[in-house]
Amino acid sequence: MGMPEIQHTEEEFIFDRKMTCIVCDQPFTTKTLKSSRARRLESDVDLRPRYEHIDTLKYGICSCPNCGYSALNSAFSHLSPRQINNIKEQVCVHVLPEDRSGCSSYSYDQALRMHELALRCADAKLAKNGEKAYLHLLMAWLLREKEKEAEQISIEELRNQETAACHEQAEEHYLAAFEGFQQAMMNEMFPIAGLNQPTLEYILAYMAFHFGKLEVAAKLIGSVLTTSGAPRTIKDRALDLKDEVIKIIREKKR
Ligand SMILES: [Zn+2]
Repeated sequence: MGMPEIQHTEEEFIFDRKMTCIVCDQPFTTKTLKSSRARRLESDVDLRPRYEHIDTLKYGICSCPNCGYSALNSAFSHLSPRQINNIKEQVCVHVLPEDRSGCSSYSYDQALRMHELALRCADAKLAKNGEKAYLHLLMAWLLREKEKEAEQISIEELRNQETAACHEQAEEHYLAAFEGFQQAMMNEMFPIAGLNQPTLEYILAYMAFHFGKLEVAAKLIGSVLTTSGAPRTIKDRALDLKDEVIKIIREKKR
C-alpha cells in the first residue's frame, strides 16, 4: 500500500495581508501568494504562467472591498491625488462594499470581478495602454479557466450557454490585449507591464497567429529571433511558432 495522496488546496499557498486603501483610507486584508511556495510548471504556449496546485493569476489584483479601488498588486499604492479623485468619482460611487470575509481562496468569478474593477480603475486613472492591455490579457486567461470549469456542468443546455459565454468574453479580452499592446509598443518604453521587448513581441506574435494575422506574426517572430539578448526559452518558443506559421501558410497556398 502506498502513502495516501495529500490533497493540496490553494489556501496552503496564500495568506491574508493587511492593507490600507490609498483611496478610502480603510483597512482591509488581501489574499497574497506566499513567496516561492508554489512550484512553477511550464507555461502555456502564450506564456500564461502555470504553478502546481494553485492558479496564481487569481491573486494578482489587490482590491479594496470597501470602496472598490483595485489594481495590480505592484500598482496598488501608486496613485496621484488627481488619480485618487478620478477613481472616487468614476468608480467608487458606483460600487457597493463587498463582504469577502467568508472566502478562504478566490473563485474565478471573484478573481474576474476584481480584475474588472481594476480595469475600470485603470480607465479612471488614465493608465497607460500597456497596463490596460495586460489586465485584458489576465482576464482572457482567467476566463479560459472559467470556461474549463463550466465544461463540468452536468445540464447540457446550461453547460453550452456558460462555455459559449466564457469563450466569447475571453476572445474579446484577448483581442483588446492584442490591440492595446500594439498601441503600447508604439508609445511606451520597455518594460511594458513588466514585460521585456522579446517577451512581449513573442506574446503578440502568438496572439497575431491566434487571430489569423500571419504576416504580423511572422514579422514579430523575426524580430524576436534577431534580438541578440532575447532569452533562449523565448527564442525556442518563437522557433516553434515559426514552424506553425509556415505550415499554415503552405497549407493556404495549396
Ligand atoms: Zn478603499
